[in-house]
Amino acid sequence: MSILGTDKCPLRVGIIGAGPSGFYVADALFRSKIPVVVDVFDRLPTPYGLLRGGVAPDHQQMKTVGKYYEKVATTPGFSFWGNVKVGRDIQIDELAKHYDVLVLTCGAETDKKLNIAGEELPGSHTATAFVGWYNAHPDYQSCQFDFNQEIVAVIGQGNVAIDVTRILAKNRKELSSSDITEHALSVLEASKIKEIHLIGRRGPVQAAFTELEIKELGELEDCDVVVNPKDLELDTASREELENPANNKARKNMAILEEFSRRPLQHKPKKIVIRFLESPSCIQGENKVEALVLTKNKLVGEAYSQQAMATEDQVHLSCGLIFRSVGYRGVPLEGVPFDTKRGVFPNIKGRIQKDGAPVQGLYCSGWIKRGPSGVLGSNKSDATETVQALVEDIAMMTPCTQRDSTALKTLLEKRGVRIITFDEWKTIDVEEVSRGKDLGKPREKFRYIEEIISFLDSH
Ligand code: NAP
Repeated sequence: MSILGTDKCPLRVGIIGAGPSGFYVADALFRSKIPVVVDVFDRLPTPYGLLRGGVAPDHQQMKTVGKYYEKVATTPGFSFWGNVKVGRDIQIDELAKHYDVLVLTCGAETDKKLNIAGEELPGSHTATAFVGWYNAHPDYQSCQFDFNQEIVAVIGQGNVAIDVTRILAKNRKELSSSDITEHALSVLEASKIKEIHLIGRRGPVQAAFTELEIKELGELEDCDVVVNPKDLELDTASREELENPANNKARKNMAILEEFSRRPLQHKPKKIVIRFLESPSCIQGENKVEALVLTKNKLVGEAYSQQAMATEDQVHLSCGLIFRSVGYRGVPLEGVPFDTKRGVFPNIKGRIQKDGAPVQGLYCSGWIKRGPSGVLGSNKSDATETVQALVEDIAMMTPCTQRDSTALKTLLEKRGVRIITFDEWKTIDVEEVSRGKDLGKPREKFRYIEEIISFLDSH
């Protein structure tokens, strides 16, 4: 057998997950200058993962990085295998016969739970479901949200919670130039929502949101923003955190919140109430959400590691709709070791570990490697680290036995899998952009997998 990673014997890499992490891994592999064949699998027919299904539709500027991913996809040696679900259509051990290396970049596909009574009552939803619904993710198109409610609670204060709050608060005009689906736009336009409570368990200095995102909440046409000045009174440790010159984020957030707290109410049709130091204790309701019981917290511990501790005080918030936005979690994949506590694949620098040793040929990158943190670009340095480890290991790798993707394609087709290629994605892309143009939007997305396949089959 020739030496792996040479012109005679290019390294065959299967990447599982065509989100930003998958593209950064592919990019880092091509940049390594080692001859490679890179096949990128995704369970959806469309690439780009959270860039398409997670990034807020009114943050089009963030979507321009898609052009970069597209460039990676046109590099010789790259293939997209859309609509192929690893773990259902093909197993990891079967794929391992076709690739020298598998890199798992499947992200964090589910939500963390609150583990409180009433969490599963109708009317209590995950942020993931709502975000997926308005972004045309096929998994969430049958979701229904009761927007006849006037009061909504959003639990958590990360940037996802801010996205959810902003989309609930914007009017049609503000959303009409985004790529939110027309379906979501018309449902939201009819919403009766008047108050959105954005609830954090710690204080303003510890809030997970970032400056640009929180600032936007104060710039909405039809929505006041309310912060109780009392919530901005800090304990000694929080003051220490705020005064640290390196803690720019907290200082900028705090300045914005202080400005919000001084604003007179303009009596706009909607209002966002930003609340701190409250944890959900239970969700009440007979057959659906009727109220959220919140326990007042105080902060305990040293500066920079202060935690929320429950006090005896509780408040009752009547509301008929709740979005839980307390972070994502990775899901296990058959045949791959999993850290159930952290919801990631156990790894050292991207090398997946089992019983304290690396599993040959198995790597990971992105949220499934480090947990759900950072912005899209954070996945670039993460991918570089994984690819560096992978390249260091080439000499120790056992070449796979089936060194041609045709056999894999035949196997999948025999199983009834309709593989979507990158060229087919480009056809979908052109169609979506054209449908969007008619509506004055950047694109109007397909919402269902079947719809995409029948469109492709008829073209
Ligand atoms: P996140 O930033 O980790 O925020 C999670 C929030 O949930 C925090 O406020 C956290 O509070 C709270 N939380 C966790 N467990 C809780 C519990 N049991 N009860 C009450 N609150 C709880 O997660 P995310 O918002 O899902 O965002 C994920 C990543 O994507 C982040 O890195 C985010 O910045 C990024 N993102 C970026 C953008 C953007 O750049 N515009 C948009 C969306 C997402 P504690 O702080 O007390 O733990």
